[in-house]
Amino acid sequence: MPLKQLVLNGFKSFADKTTINFNKGITGIVGPNGSGKSNVTEAIRWVMGENSAKALRGENMRDIIFAGSEFRGPLNKAEVCLIFDNHDRQLHLDSDKVAIMRRILRSGDSEYFINNQSVRLKDIRTLFVDSGLSQNSLAIISQGKVDQILNSQAEDRRYIFEEAAGVLHFKQQKLVALKK
Ligand code: ATP
Ligand code: MG
Repeated sequence: MPLKQLVLNGFKSFADKTTINFNKGITGIVGPNGSGKSNVTEAIRWVMGENSAKALRGENMRDIIFAGSEFRGPLNKAEVCLIFDNHDRQLHLDSDKVAIMRRILRSGDSEYFINNQSVRLKDIRTLFVDSGLSQNSLAIISQGKVDQILNSQAEDRRYIFEEAAGVLHFKQQKLVALKK
């Protein structure tokens, strides 16, 4: 389930629509301090459902909308779209391409889309539950995260292993079945 493309529009320092293509192999993003490298990884976390403004280095979720610069005014919305190659059908959707999109307006409202269809965050979480790319997965390791994992409680560490092993999905189904 390789990543194909990330499109940022109004997200943090990316005032203009910016497209990053992920070709076969490794994609490296390089640039001077403050050029937006971390913003790119945060955009991926955000579109996948990150809802903690603090985790995205902000006070409020609106802080992720381009706030203006010396040369241009602030924007009123931010959009991020992440496109996966789903030829292998690892994501349970009958489509070769899966596009996840999130939009936030200054009013604070967030909208989610899967292949242009309006969905709830829950639907995105369900789609990615055992993919290794859910919200707290180790697919993205940010600065300070390694220390945090090493210092975490046994329960939390178990969650990390369960997700890596791909059994969380079954655990959640079991919980639902037990509730019925
Ligand atoms: P480093 O190499 O130091 O880690 P980096 O390439 O990771 O740098 P980022 O932290 O991604 O850089 O980008 C920081 C830049 O993003 C800062 O210049 C900051 O002003 C800008 N920025 C963050 N949020 C917004 C926003 N809402 N609107 C405009 N610019 C923003
Ligand atoms: Mg950085």
